[in-house]
Amino acid sequence: ESLTTQNVRFVECKNDDTASALSKCHNKKVSLTPLIKRTNLLNEKSSKATLLLQFKNSLIYKPGDHVGVFPMNRKELVDVIINRVKGVADADQALELQFLKETHTSNGVVKNWKPHERLPAASLRDLLTRFLDITTPPSPYLLHHFASLATDQQDQQRLNLLATDSSAYEDWRHWNFPNLAEVLQEFPSVNPYAPLLVSQLSILQPRFYSISSSPLMHPSELHLTVAVVVYHTQGGEGPVHYGVCSNYLQDIEAGQDVYLFVRSAPNFYLPNDLSKPIILVGPGTGIAPFRAFWQHRYAQLKAKHQLGKIWLFFGCRTKEMDLYKEEKDEMKQGKVLDRVFLALSREPNIKKTYVQDLALTEAAEIYKLLVIQEGHFYVCGDCTMAEHVYQTLKKIIQTYGGMSENEVQSCLLSLRDQNRYHEDIFGI
Ligand code: FAD
Repeated sequence: ESLTTQNVRFVECKNDDTASALSKCHNKKVSLTPLIKRTNLLNEKSSKATLLLQFKNSLIYKPGDHVGVFPMNRKELVDVIINRVKGVADADQALELQFLKETHTSNGVVKNWKPHERLPAASLRDLLTRFLDITTPPSPYLLHHFASLATDQQDQQRLNLLATDSSAYEDWRHWNFPNLAEVLQEFPSVNPYAPLLVSQLSILQPRFYSISSSPLMHPSELHLTVAVVVYHTQGGEGPVHYGVCSNYLQDIEAGQDVYLFVRSAPNFYLPNDLSKPIILVGPGTGIAPFRAFWQHRYAQLKAKHQLGKIWLFFGCRTKEMDLYKEEKDEMKQGKVLDRVFLALSREPNIKKTYVQDLALTEAAEIYKLLVIQEGHFYVCGDCTMAEHVYQTLKKIIQTYGGMSENEVQSCLLSLRDQNRYHEDIFGI
């Protein structure tokens, strides 16, 4: 049965507290932890920002683990939506979303109001801020619904076209990547009925980040390394869009609580045998988990463990964008990092170089560390880079091991089987 204003409603109720509301909504144990400090790791003059975020921590984690962060949508987007919807008098009054459900009993069909399975009792403002995805472009289905509400004929025709013609929809979506607020602004005669709109939006998902600190070095803290996502739509000429979670982390104040959970990543842990060498490849924020690794090894070195070599391949556009330069220098001096490589892809007067290019120049040593000394290889970052690095490693092993195609394939497979080839992929 399709939803109408007759079978979905809001009922006033008492607020759930945020932590239990998020727990219920995502079926996860959610912790809250205050931000202690935020540092921009890039030069202030740079148009981009990459943040080191230090949180107070009481959660158990290992280097390699991720956290899931529950973000908040931007106030200005939420306000646009609140001002356009109908059916809610007070956006700050806690509400429960309910559906009229039919059940068949021996006495015939009975209709009862049942609460939404995931959404908590919260005000419309909180629902739009913490629980609902209002930045992914609306689906054709939602546009179809908006078409039915449009009182202006032109709005209605355009919405109907977008809802039914998939190539028109894809062009529009790709060019504008419109969020819900922008769609409402594009179609001024649409005033959605709030309970119906809320029931049709997707749940706002947590964003994952690789933990950037070692619990041995920072027992009561947890650090993240986050690139702030900001871009213009319409081929760079359109309105500015802000990535939800990275900008939330950019904007919150020290002392403010963040809701998060730890997700363990056992396939990306340091080797149990501390004497094994490790090779780390991570351009950009791909360096995030490796900072946890070198900090961990630093603490282990202090505790007089025998440690294998660490080689780090980092890449960025220009020298100015190098991340954790001083800390890497310290770790080199402290004999934690044996060698540190920097690949620059857009530095003036330097040939464009990527991490895989540098790996190739060190092929003989990489083969020795990884194959002869039975080391571990770690790659972190986007999947295109990871594929390039994998192909490069294949070439290195094939050349230095004098292997056939079949032999190198099975060598790489056994590296994976022995859990000595590790990938932490962020996205496309
Ligand atoms: P969103 O609101 O999710 O927006 C991002 C979306 O905006 C993109 O998917 C794309 O559709 C669109 N977009 C972005 N740029 C453009 C553009 N130029 N033109 C058009 N559209 C664009 N990130 C880190 O910074 N550090 C980490 O340590 C880290 N670890 C991760 C670990 C894992 C396992 C995973 C899965 C991801 C990790 N990420 C990490 C990525 C992180 O989870 C988020 O995806 C990232 O921070 C962006 O989230 P956001 O909410 O700010 O942006």
